[in-house]
Amino acid sequence: VAANALKRIARNDGMKQYIQNSKDLYPVFQRAAKRFITGETREDGIQRARSLNDKGYPVSLEYIGENTATKEECVKAKNEMIELIGDIQSHGIDSKISFDLSHIGLSVDESLALKHMDELAGVAKQHVCYLMISMEESAKTNSILNIYKQVSSIYNNVGITLQVNLKRSLDDLRELLHFPGKIRLVKGAYKESPEIMIQRSEELNHRYLQFVQECLDVNHPISIATHDEKLLNEIKKRGYAQKSNVEIEMLDGIRPDLINQSKEEGYNTRVYLLYGLEWFLYVCHRLAENPPNIYQFIADMVNV
Ligand code: FAD
Repeated sequence: VAANALKRIARNDGMKQYIQNSKDLYPVFQRAAKRFITGETREDGIQRARSLNDKGYPVSLEYIGENTATKEECVKAKNEMIELIGDIQSHGIDSKISFDLSHIGLSVDESLALKHMDELAGVAKQHVCYLMISMEESAKTNSILNIYKQVSSIYNNVGITLQVNLKRSLDDLRELLHFPGKIRLVKGAYKESPEIMIQRSEELNHRYLQFVQECLDVNHPISIATHDEKLLNEIKKRGYAQKSNVEIEMLDGIRPDLINQSKEEGYNTRVYLLYGLEWFLYVCHRLAENPPNIYQFIADMVNV
């Protein structure tokens, strides 16, 4: 119930505004955010990236945001990402950049997202930077894949995220294997209708293994983006994670022990970092998907 409530709060602008104006509730969300978000500025992101690089982890950096509603805001977000690309290079940071296409135009107009994506890919190419497109709700899947395929046909420094839990994704995977970009395999964060989605289950984990196997069969670069220890152990046991073009990627702050163990075992690892002001929705998602997070969050609320 609490998980669904959090997901509803995340999507409800009135509720979000109410919480942001509440002297009691907002600090509880801010406290939760500290666990999942690096900070509010680009400098915060770069600083955390440097500290993780120093510990031996390459990172992915995301300037957080999605569903940007105006063209002006999309241009601002795209420009922030261009600054980020420049800072990554000038500070010598080992980082990819991840983002939602709806942050830079998809919620306004698909052609705006394509235009911004094309510009970002060109700038990133000049700065030897790799871009990873995130995957959003299923209503956007076709548009996101269309844009990726167009840009990926021109630039070889762009990759895509695929949600294993969507029933359509196996067909999508087989098509994506014809494009050069890295494929980041995730279980999927969005609540979709049961007709199109497979719930968290053994079946989903088997499917995840199948996706990994199909990528490896054609030697395609992948990111194994999961915190599921059992699944990851199986992937390691089968020798899937040993290849040089396979990496294990986790969100910062979720399973630091597990990513550290994987690094110590000699696997390629990467940590995913976020910075920015628009953290509210992301934090609600991270709280909602894991029961202990919800208990902690409720305990914090009771103690306000
Ligand atoms: P689950 O089966 O959900 O969880 C397995 C175990 O991991 C849990 O038992 C728990 O121990 C731990 N765990 C999982 N989540 C949490 C949490 N929030 N707090 C504490 N422990 C937790 N999803 C998208 O839909 N689109 C994207 O573009 C996208 N990009 C991602 C990029 C990266 C690098 C990663 C790691 C995830 C991304 N996700 C994305 C999120 C993903 O889809 C899942 O929602 C998320 O990773 C949780 O699923 P899981 O594979 O870890 O396994």
